[in-house]
Amino acid sequence: MLRTHTCGELTLSDKGKQVTLSGWIQRSRDLGGMTFIDLRDRYGITQLVFNMETNAPLCEAARKLGREFVISAFGTVAERSNKNPKLPTGDIEIIVERFEVLNTSKIPPFTIEDNTDGGDELRMKYRYLDLRRNPVRENILLRHRMAIETRNYMNDTGFVEIETPVLIKSTPEGARDFVVPSRMNEGEFYALPQSPQTFKQLLMVAGFDRYFQIVKCFRDEDLRADRQPEFTQIDCEMSFVTQDDILATFEGLVKHLFRKVKGVEVNDIPRMPFSEAMKYYGSDKPDIRFGMKFVELTDIVKGRDFKVFDDAALVAGINATGCAVYTRKQLDALTDFVKRPQIGAGGLIYLRYNEDGSLKSSVDKFYSEEELKRWVAAFGAKPGDLMLILAGEENKTRKALSELRLEMGNQLGLRNPEVFAPLWVVDFPLLEWDDETRRFYAMHHPFTSPKPEDVALLDTDPGKVRANAYDLVINGVEIGGGSIRIHDRGMQKKMFTVLGFSDEDAQAQFGFLMNAFEYGAPPHGGIAFGFDRMCSLFGGSESIRDYIAFPKNNAGRDVMIDSPAPIKQEQLDELGIKLNTKAPKE
Ligand code: ASP
Repeated sequence: MLRTHTCGELTLSDKGKQVTLSGWIQRSRDLGGMTFIDLRDRYGITQLVFNMETNAPLCEAARKLGREFVISAFGTVAERSNKNPKLPTGDIEIIVERFEVLNTSKIPPFTIEDNTDGGDELRMKYRYLDLRRNPVRENILLRHRMAIETRNYMNDTGFVEIETPVLIKSTPEGARDFVVPSRMNEGEFYALPQSPQTFKQLLMVAGFDRYFQIVKCFRDEDLRADRQPEFTQIDCEMSFVTQDDILATFEGLVKHLFRKVKGVEVNDIPRMPFSEAMKYYGSDKPDIRFGMKFVELTDIVKGRDFKVFDDAALVAGINATGCAVYTRKQLDALTDFVKRPQIGAGGLIYLRYNEDGSLKSSVDKFYSEEELKRWVAAFGAKPGDLMLILAGEENKTRKALSELRLEMGNQLGLRNPEVFAPLWVVDFPLLEWDDETRRFYAMHHPFTSPKPEDVALLDTDPGKVRANAYDLVINGVEIGGGSIRIHDRGMQKKMFTVLGFSDEDAQAQFGFLMNAFEYGAPPHGGIAFGFDRMCSLFGGSESIRDYIAFPKNNAGRDVMIDSPAPIKQEQLDELGIKLNTKAPKE
């Protein structure tokens, strides 16, 4: 028998039992007459002991075992004299009577313990070794629990899991596609799906009523810490529903996951219109774990010869409670923060409301105490508070102030990763104007329906049309998004026109969907959640990579299998692909 128990389950109640454990040697220590080995498997670590006095040959053999050797050891469970309260098995050890080496190991390139000396690249290259480490393995196990609980909830609420194809067709909207050449159709390409959007809508036309899928999606975008070229979505679609039905159903999923996976009860999820999110938080994904809402001062600060304010389309600020004690140095650091190119503010104006009731601002020359008191009233500030103000072009100022707000939230410890504040952001604009290409783009995607009361604006002021679209935001991170879809062929056609598609283009790209809409498409809508992001949020980490078994690095490479890689000339010939400067010469 290779094992009777795992390395994570034996406790004092097993004292005296004869057991066989198998696993990897995490580390060993020779202490005079004794040798101790920490044996690791997926379930935990158990200490093995070998005693020179009672069994010298066995102890000597044990001393020859290297790190990461795979062994199977038979012995008796004994109480430890030196207990380790940090380990579930820390009260016991196994007095080994015999062992077998199941496999040897090279010396691993980094230590495989909770804290490791391995750098990022090295650990990516030997990902299978990194995955042996507890914290990394725990992340993958968390992901598994998230997936299972998602399936449980979706199944219990009548959703059907249906797979959609991975080899589909390239479409111009959205991000860049990954493409796959077709050998049987030379010169033609499949594309990998950016999402199963059109297929899930076709499944509604097909009458499946409630669909979901935990599905890989692919987007050929420049990478950031929280992006991967392939990522996973919980993709969902429902028929005969309103926006309220969808929000209620998926609020249920969010609560279920928090309850089952984290043991946390979350409150009912508040809803905030996009316009309010932008006005008070300068962001379509506000972190509502803390307040510090924007206060607009534009109307009360103009006309005092202070050019920065006089020239500004928007003057707005936040009130940092209890921060009047901030030193010059801290204020300078905040000024540097907002002036960083990524944030782009011209400068930072402050108003300190000292504990003794006095006021001190960086613009005292322009504003009397009376005037500054009006600012204080606008902020609702109390003695001890610090008001931080930015001014400039409207969108830029909101964006910069949003960053400053988050920074102050960090500095004041208001962004505790163990606190979860989900939020529905609703009523997004349908369209987004792009100055460069001088056309509208769908803010969500071209299948999103306008709010019925705004439809008339499509002809007169398309930028004003609101969509039946919503995002789920948790702690300032966009976790999911979706919409009620257009299910009417005429409206879908109109939408393509507004987006600048000619009839031919629309027919060539999306003809299959518009044709389907001629055969009784039910009203429908859906949502997709970023599953990797959700896992990282639940796990309390910023990086989604930690929650993916075999992730790509920042350059989109898998450094373990060394991909992407050139292919052989024969393969290229077969595919009818002529140009490849990287192909190995035969
Ligand atoms: N397909 C959309 C996305 O990937 C989500 C949805 O509208 O359901 O963002």
